Amino acid sequence: MDIPRSLKEILTTLPSDGKVTLVAVSKFHPAESVIAAYDAGQRVFGESRVQELVAKAAELPDDIQWHYIGHLQTNKVSQLLKVSNLSLIESVDSFKLLDVLETTAQKLSRRIDILLEIHVAREETKSGFNTAELISWYKNGGPSNLKFLRIRGLMGMATNTDDETEIRKDFQSITTCFNKIKELSSTPEDFDILSMGMSGDYQIAIGEGSNMVRIGSSIFGERSY
Ligand SMILES: *Cc1c(COP(=O)(O)O)cnc(C)c1O
Repeated sequence: MDIPRSLKEILTTLPSDGKVTLVAVSKFHPAESVIAAYDAGQRVFGESRVQELVAKAAELPDDIQWHYIGHLQTNKVSQLLKVSNLSLIESVDSFKLLDVLETTAQKLSRRIDILLEIHVAREETKSGFNTAELISWYKNGGPSNLKFLRIRGLMGMATNTDDETEIRKDFQSITTCFNKIKELSSTPEDFDILSMGMSGDYQIAIGEGSNMVRIGSSIFGERSY
């Protein structure tokens, strides 16, 4: 894979106003692949395992903005929050995890930006909140208890299918939920990230309102897992 070239190709397909952030998903690819993209100008990278993010962050440049995008186990939170250039946790998928993140961030005196992961896809294996529970949590003022976490928006995935209509419908559901929550939020100006779209469906996602896409295989090649 010619990483600089595939990265450039992806960038040319994003809106030219720069309003869509590209997260280069480097999971299961070696540090050299990250460097190849970094040297081509990319600064935002996504990882889905704590061990791997911690190891890469230790050896790679400090001005990389790391995003955590995988399922996060509560016993790994403290290790993850010690990474100084961790910039966003995109995959907060339960109230329990929110609690542990808040407590740990407080312990480390660190403010952390997060996204709430919402589950709309057909697959039961995917994790995340459902729309109704998030909305009722907001209506009950739940987020006001969080002092160290700043909820920046939502992350979501569409059903893994070739049916474009179904993919589009999933993204529309996520966008609708995003707009409702923004209305309910006491800090709507902070609630500004809608992360949806991966290699196979990011163009559809952008069409439905995404302003952050997480792209792995189209930049780095296929993963061996
Ligand atoms: C792996 C992963 C991606 C990237 O997927 P590609 O199909 O390789 O672009 C995006 N988001 C999440 C949450 C992932 O786990």
